[in-house]
Amino acid sequence: MTSLDDIPVTQLKGVGQALADKLARLEIRSLQDLLFHLPHRYEDRTRIVPIGSLRIGDVGVVEGEVMKADLVMGRRRSLQVTLRDSSGFLVMRFFHFNAAQKNQLTEGRRVRCFGEVRPGRAGLEFYHPEYLVDPPPMPSGEQATLTPVYPLTEGIQQPRVRGLCKQALGYLQRYPIREWLPESLLSDYQLPGISEAVELVHMPPASAPVHQLMEGKHPAQQRLVMEELLAHQLSLLKVRRQIQAREALPLLPTGDLTERFLDQLPFRLTGAQQHVMTEIRQDLSQPVPMLRLVQGDVGSGKTVVAALAALQAISAGTQVGLMAPTEILAEQHYQNFVSWLEPLGIRVAWLSGKVKGRQRQDALAEVADGRANIVIGTHALFQQDVTFDRLALVIVDEQHRFGVHQRLALREKGVGGRLAPHQLIMTATPIPRTLAMSAYADLDTSVIDELPPGRKPIETIAIPDSRREEVIERVRKACEEGRQAYWVCTLIEESEVLQCQAAEVTAQELADRLPGLNVGLVHGRLKTAEKAAMMERFKSGELDLLVATTVIEVGVDVPNASLIIIENPERLGLAQLHQLRGRVGRGEAASFCALMYHPPLSMNGKARLQALRESQDGFVIAEKDLEIRGPGEVLGTRQTGMMQFRLAEFERDKGWIEAIREMAPALMDNTPLVDGLIRRWLGERIRYGDV
Ligand code: ADP
Ligand code: MG
Repeated sequence: MTSLDDIPVTQLKGVGQALADKLARLEIRSLQDLLFHLPHRYEDRTRIVPIGSLRIGDVGVVEGEVMKADLVMGRRRSLQVTLRDSSGFLVMRFFHFNAAQKNQLTEGRRVRCFGEVRPGRAGLEFYHPEYLVDPPPMPSGEQATLTPVYPLTEGIQQPRVRGLCKQALGYLQRYPIREWLPESLLSDYQLPGISEAVELVHMPPASAPVHQLMEGKHPAQQRLVMEELLAHQLSLLKVRRQIQAREALPLLPTGDLTERFLDQLPFRLTGAQQHVMTEIRQDLSQPVPMLRLVQGDVGSGKTVVAALAALQAISAGTQVGLMAPTEILAEQHYQNFVSWLEPLGIRVAWLSGKVKGRQRQDALAEVADGRANIVIGTHALFQQDVTFDRLALVIVDEQHRFGVHQRLALREKGVGGRLAPHQLIMTATPIPRTLAMSAYADLDTSVIDELPPGRKPIETIAIPDSRREEVIERVRKACEEGRQAYWVCTLIEESEVLQCQAAEVTAQELADRLPGLNVGLVHGRLKTAEKAAMMERFKSGELDLLVATTVIEVGVDVPNASLIIIENPERLGLAQLHQLRGRVGRGEAASFCALMYHPPLSMNGKARLQALRESQDGFVIAEKDLEIRGPGEVLGTRQTGMMQFRLAEFERDKGWIEAIREMAPALMDNTPLVDGLIRRWLGERIRYGDV
C-alpha cells in the first residue's frame, strides 16, 4: 500500500519543480515530510483585543477608527496612521507604502489589523501590520481558530505553507499516518493517536484551549513532542548498538604498572576517582567496546583517571590515543603523561596539526609500528594518514567541543580495523542530568562528584571596567606577595588575529603599569613551542602575571596562581566562565576572581554573572546555563545539529526524558519502529547516526 511517505509533494496542487526545490531545502519531499513540518508557534487572531490592554511585545488583532493619517519625514519617511478604539489609541507605521494605501487609510475609516506591539516615537506602534479596511464581521465559533506559524526558508511565505499543509491533511483519510507508539503507552499517558495529533496541531479547532496550545502543552502537541524525543533517544541507542555489535579487545591488566604509578603519585585518589576507576576497569575488561562519559567539575582530577585507564590498556599490550580539543591542553596532557609514564618505561608520542615534516613522519612511524604506547594530540590524531599498530583505547578530553563526525571518525582506527576501540570521553563541563540522559544516551555515565581535599572557595566579584585601576592595583599587591595571576582578554572580534592583537596590547599596557612584575602572554597564534615555553615560565614562577586569550580556558593547571581577572565576561557563556575561573583555587592560598564587565549589562548578562558569584558548583552552574541559554549552547553542539528539535523544547519538555529513557530499550527490538521513527523525525540527519 502506498503511504504518505511515498507521495511526493509535487502531487499537491500548485507545487511545481521550483517550489518542490525550495521545500527540499526544508527537507520536505513527501507528504509525510510536509505534515511533520510542524508549526513552532501560533498567533491568536480569533479575538479583537482592546488597544488599551496591549503591552510591548504583545501580538494581536485590534480594530478601530482612523483618527488621522500623516506622512512623517524623519530619518526615514513613513506613513503614520493613528487608530482609536474605546480603550486607547495605537499607531500603524509603514515605511513602504503605495498611493492606494495612503488614499485608503483616511480619517474615519474602520480598520482591523494584526501586529506586534513595539515602542515607537508616537507611543505604542505596529510596524507594517497586516490590515483590513472596512473589515467583515470576525469569524466566530466554528471558524475561529489559532493561526499556525511555520519555520520557513527563503522564498516561501507563511500562507503558502499553511495552504500546502491543509491540502496534505486532506490525504489523511485515505492514507493515515503510521502509528508507531504502542496502544498501552498512549492510554497510559492519555495521548491522542498520531493522525489526530498531527491534524490538530496544523489546524487547531476553535474549541481547543488557546493557552495550552500557545504554550505547547496541548495533549496533541505533547504526543508529538514525546515521539520526537523518543526518536532522538532511539537514534542514539541505535548508534550505541551498532558500535557494541562489534567486538573489542578485553583489556586484562597484567604486571604491576598501575601500582607503580599510584606509588609515585604525590597524592591519594579521592573516593570518587576510585569509584569511577572501578567502573572503567570493569568496562575495559569486556569484549564489548566501552562507551563511557566521565563528568567531573573543573579540578576534580580527571587526568589521573585518564592515565589509569591508559595504563590498563598499555599493560595489556595495546595502544592508547588521547585527543584534546586545543593545542595548549593537548600539550599539557603530553607533559603530564611524559612525566608520569616515561619513568615507568612507557613511550609517549606527540601529534598535533602543527607537527610537520620529519617530526611528523617519525611520530607516525612510531605509532604505526607500535613503539609508541600512547599518542597524545589534537584532532590531528584521527586524520586519515594516522594508523595504529594495536589501538584499543581512545580517550577524548572535553568532548563537547568535538563534533559528532570526529567522534565517529575515531571509531574506525581500532586493532586491525576489525575490533572497535574502547572509548572514554571526559567532559569538564558538567552536564545537567536530564540533558545528559538525552544528549548522551549512547554513552554510560560516570561522575567524579568530589574535589580533592583542601580546595579553598574562590571569592568572586563583578566589577565595572571603570574601576580597572583598582583591579590593576590588586594584581600588583597579590604578585608582590608572591602569588601569580591570570589576566584573560575575551574578545569582540571573531578573528583570531585581532584577538591576539588585543591581548598583545593589554599585555604591553600591564607591563608598563606594573614595572616590578614579569608579564607573559599566551594566545592561539603562538607556535606550540613558544606557548609551551611561556606556560613553563609561568608554571615555574618566573612570570608573575600571564595575559591570555581564552586559550587557557581548559585544563591549564598552575596551583600557585590564585588571582584571575576576566575582562568582558558578559561575552562568554557560563560554562566557559566557570572553566576559566577554575584556573585558580587549586593551591593553598585563598583565591579571587574579578569579572570586569563593560556596563550596561543585559538582563541575561546580569543573570549569568550573578549565577557565577553565587555558586562554584559546576552542576548548579550548568543547570542555570541550560535555563538561560538552552541545550544547544550548553553542549556546544549547535553546528552539529544535535539537540535541534522541531517541536520539543528542552526546558519545557524535559519531564518526558525519564519516562522515555525507561521505555526506549524495550522498543529497540522493534526495528521497523526504530527506523520509522528516526526517519520521520530526524530525516536527513540520520546519516550522523550511521556508523
Ligand atoms: P580536571 O578534572 O579539571 O582535568 P586535573 O586532572 O587537571 O583536573 O586535576 C587538577 C589538579 O588536582 C591537578 O594538579 C592534579 O594533580 C590534582 N589532583 C588530582 N587528583 C588529586 C587527588 N586525589 N588529590 C590531590 N590532588 C589531586
Ligand atoms: Mg582536565
